[in-house]
Amino acid sequence: MKIAIAGAGLAGRVLALELLRQDPECTITFFEKGSREGTDAAGFTAAGMLAPYAELETAESILLPLGRRSMVLWPELLREVGLYDGQQQKGTIITAHAQDWGDLEHFIARLRHKIDTTDAIRPLNRTDMTTLEPDLALHHRGYYLPEEGVIDAQRFMAFSVTYFDRTDRVTFREHTPVERLTPRHVHLGEKREKFDWVFDTRGLGAQEHFSDLRGVRGELIWVESNDIDITRPVRLMHPRYRLYIVPRGNGCSGIDLAYCEGCQLAQTVGYKRYIVGATEIESEDTSDLSVRSALELLSALYAVHPAFGEARIVHTETNCRPAFGDNLPRIENQPGLTRINGLYRHGYLLAPAWIEEALRSGIWARQHQEKP
Ligand SMILES: Cc1cc2nc3c(=O)[nH]c(=O)nc-3n(C[C@H](O)[C@H](O)[C@H](O)COP(=O)(O)OP(=O)(O)OC[C@H]3O[C@@H](n4cnc5c(N)ncnc54)[C@H](O)[C@@H]3O)c2cc1C
Repeated sequence: MKIAIAGAGLAGRVLALELLRQDPECTITFFEKGSREGTDAAGFTAAGMLAPYAELETAESILLPLGRRSMVLWPELLREVGLYDGQQQKGTIITAHAQDWGDLEHFIARLRHKIDTTDAIRPLNRTDMTTLEPDLALHHRGYYLPEEGVIDAQRFMAFSVTYFDRTDRVTFREHTPVERLTPRHVHLGEKREKFDWVFDTRGLGAQEHFSDLRGVRGELIWVESNDIDITRPVRLMHPRYRLYIVPRGNGCSGIDLAYCEGCQLAQTVGYKRYIVGATEIESEDTSDLSVRSALELLSALYAVHPAFGEARIVHTETNCRPAFGDNLPRIENQPGLTRINGLYRHGYLLAPAWIEEALRSGIWARQHQEKP
């Protein structure tokens, strides 16, 4: 099989890894509008939270089985690209300011209503909190979701490039925007190139085909601190956003990305990096972080621990999540062309399971051996 993948973001990379594994004979050509490092992709911006329970509040129930399945599939994908410590499965903590405690209780009640196991959400008192995260001892209560986790999104993007570069079965055509896709064909301006099968994983770039695909703006701030050590993701109840702080260890991406200066700082003086996010705004604007969002994200950070007041802001990210009207992912299949999109705010949580579903079901599964 000679396969083309349009869009080397999160879905495109997970798909390629799965295709290479399933079919030892196939070759893959990536067509990517940006660079092979994928720093333009939402998959690079993401915090990488695997939160099938906490996200259930506003999401459909399919999130839970798909999310659980992805958590089983991620370790193999990460091992394949050599990222052995890329998944952390230590659960998440949810806490709130005293004035928002009622909102948190209501949030937890809504989650419990949608969850089949009672052990998935555990209340925490001060002693539990101190045992789990000593630096959060000033929070008297909270909740613990032990099955949740996080993927180091930036390192997954970086390690997967290195992996693809090492195999002669993958060709990277970076800075090559695809105009449109038709069965077995990739259209590049006047030219079109033929393949046995074409996959569309262009995220928001597939709006020329999906008229109901929209972008949902999200902003994140990366900070570094050597005063505070939190080891698992923490969510803070907030009236407007679902805010979280995701620890990234010493922040080293392992390859020479644009943020290496930050990495070196982190490694030299023992700083810990945290990703603080994320806003959710109905807009396709990817311009820089706004003052208002910065104030809200940083206030939340400071509320989690005042020692964050001395943290250093090392980077900000803005991108758009690709979403359909119902915020559910979609697979479209026809002979010679499969489209996978709409991963919205759950790309890391859903991609492995959703791609497994795309390759297991429908026309691809029945016809992928059939050469044109
Ligand atoms: C702020 C933020 C925080 C997030 N946090 C999380 C999280 O904690 N957990 C989680 O599970 N998910 C999270 N997500 C969601 C996740 O990042 C997305 O769901 C996921 O990246 C979507 O994957 P994708 O491959 O469809 O799109 P992308 O990752 O955006 O990849 C699309 C790729 O296609 C390329 N492309 C576009 N147009 C063309 C074209 N015409 N030709 C060729 N290439 C093209 C783009 O350059 C890009 O590389 C977050 C997203 C954002 C923005």
